[in-house]
Amino acid sequence: MEKADPRVVVITGGSKGIGRAVAMKFSGENARIIIVHYDPDNAASDETMKILSEKGVESESHRLDVSDFSSVKGFFEDLISRLERVDVLVNNAGITRDRLLMRMTEEDWDAVLRVNLKSVFNCTVAVNRYMIKQRRGRIVNISSVVGLMGNAGQANYAASKAGIIGFTKSVAREVAPRGVTVNAVAPGFIDTEMTAGLPEKVKEAFMGQIPLGRIGKPEDVAEAVYWLCSEAASYITGQVIQVNGGMYM
Ligand code: NAP
Repeated sequence: MEKADPRVVVITGGSKGIGRAVAMKFSGENARIIIVHYDPDNAASDETMKILSEKGVESESHRLDVSDFSSVKGFFEDLISRLERVDVLVNNAGITRDRLLMRMTEEDWDAVLRVNLKSVFNCTVAVNRYMIKQRRGRIVNISSVVGLMGNAGQANYAASKAGIIGFTKSVAREVAPRGVTVNAVAPGFIDTEMTAGLPEKVKEAFMGQIPLGRIGKPEDVAEAVYWLCSEAASYITGQVIQVNGGMYM
């Protein structure tokens, strides 16, 4: 029997942390994995590419600012004209600029909203037409527990992550008749570079709120993302799957 064509899986922020764990999860199937990152230092993406290549997975890494509409448009036009399909989009790239509102600058607000929320629009709108035409596609947007419960010092981040949820539900309704599902995953406190720099006191406060009693691993989040992209989840759309150790119920 002929082997099916690999699924084309695009993961923004796939160079490290949660995005890398998602890439690793997809590496277990017949997938072509495209990761996108932005730091001019390619060490993290090189490491991810090395692991994928050792596993024999077809993969590509691209440096792209997902908050820039025209760069994202050009990137996906090129990708789709070369590979002639796009099956999975994981909108995972994200940043923080934490500050109490009293000290938050316009730049703090704009940077976080652009990278975390506008990027989700940029990438989704770029694949939407193709997925609809294919009558097949899976989009998973990475939100956050903070988008559901709020967090002092993260008004910009919480707004971006709550925005992702509204976006997810609206687009899910638009594309459902064409066989495309759109869901969000809202991680809790996960052990990545993003959280590594938090003051010990803040980390302890988070830990005290987690009934399962441990910090999450990127792999915990990747499991949910991967499942939402599987055939088993074909009847699930417009949902927010929480992966937070019970931190918020
Ligand atoms: P991370 O380790 O800091 O990774 C962030 C990724 O986003 C990196 O690959 C980074 O690439 C990429 N990125 C940042 N700005 C970008 C841009 N403008 N264009 C393209 N790529 C960009 O963070 P993480 O903890 O894995 O977080 C992944 C997602 O989960 C984020 O959306 C985050 O908000 C969300 N989340 C995380 C937690 C947590 O506790 N860690 C909790 C809830 C939600 P470069 O470094 O190359 O720029």
